[in-house]
Amino acid sequence: MMQLKSKLPNIGTTIFSVMSALAKEHNAINLSQGFPDFECDPLLLQLAQKYMNSGFNQYAPMQGVLPLRETISQIIETCYQSKYNPETEITVTAGATQGIYTAIAAFINKGDEVIVFEPAYDCYIPAIELHGAKAVSIELTYPGFKIDWEKVKNKMNDNTKMIIINTPHNPSGTTLTKVDLIELEKLVAGKNIIVLSDEVYEHMAFDGEPHQSVALFPELKKQSIIVSSFGKTVHTTGWKIGYTVAPEYLMKEFRKVHQFLVFAVNHPFQMALAEFLSDKKNYLELKNFYQQKRDYFRKLVSNSKFKLEDCTGTYFQLLNYSAISNENDSDFAIRLTKEYKLASIPLSGFYTSKKDDKLLRFCFAKKNETLEKAAEIINRVK
Ligand code: PMP
Ligand code: GLN
Repeated sequence: MMQLKSKLPNIGTTIFSVMSALAKEHNAINLSQGFPDFECDPLLLQLAQKYMNSGFNQYAPMQGVLPLRETISQIIETCYQSKYNPETEITVTAGATQGIYTAIAAFINKGDEVIVFEPAYDCYIPAIELHGAKAVSIELTYPGFKIDWEKVKNKMNDNTKMIIINTPHNPSGTTLTKVDLIELEKLVAGKNIIVLSDEVYEHMAFDGEPHQSVALFPELKKQSIIVSSFGKTVHTTGWKIGYTVAPEYLMKEFRKVHQFLVFAVNHPFQMALAEFLSDKKNYLELKNFYQQKRDYFRKLVSNSKFKLEDCTGTYFQLLNYSAISNENDSDFAIRLTKEYKLASIPLSGFYTSKKDDKLLRFCFAKKNETLEKAAEIINRVK
């Protein structure tokens, strides 16, 4: 066998794949990996079919089809009264994952430092390390999952080239406030630091609190790249289409890498999304839809021995099981899957330190009957 030097020696298979496979193997209800178990709007499927049948089957333009870039520009203007030029400041990507990877590849060099908040979505740190840079992790305070901005200030130095934020936040289900964004804006002002803002759950901020997009902060926006994903917004995680927006001087560099990473993204689905999302209700109604799911799930498990953490956004609910068991969260999640037939994600998987606060993440983007079956199990665990 050849001698290989792994570029990611400490990385195994993602916790999402592991838990979904375990759920399948044990015929368990799968609230682990984040994806809906219901279909998207049939109109969207009809539109995809329409564009496949009418000749949109060759390469799309490298930066994405113009109608979709125009729709994205419209969405951002509707939600945040902020303008991005579809010609020069918006690029359609193969999911948010590719947008994040491309942004890191385009701007991060060997020896640079990137600040990441943990628990962190799993694709950030490997992308940083693959470019010879150092991920500087700052743990969010628990309970509450808040950013300690004083800590951030202390971790910043001349090597800091990027700060990655994520709101609404996966896996905690919490959201950043306007005060957080103002703090961030102050911290990076005048510095050569890019903010990479992962806003894939932007249309799932609850309780009447608006999503605090970087696009709402004119100064911060000048040095930020925002990533989003249609997978979340229109219930099509399997289509892997997302987008990135940034000021032109950043987008120009982003596209230099994008063109060699994927060149272009699925053509007929882009056309379908452009038409579907030109109707505002198809994204503006999402927060009510998921808020109802959240409330329903929380009510169903409110008398269980698990403690409900606050959930102000995303489609994830954290449950604390410290009143039930001392097991570490991975063992407990595995036992819940094997013995009780319910899969979740242990939070330690999102920490470099494998911090274990006895928390499991449950995805409530599911049919009510699935949530009822899951709740029946959760209520039985003693
Ligand atoms: N960021 C976060 C916070 C996510 O939860 C996800 C996927 N669920 C992504 C990025 C990746 O999105 P996509 O599936 O569009 O690549
Ligand atoms: N983002 C989804 C989650 O958090 C999973 C995506 C994936 O499997 N890579 O569960």
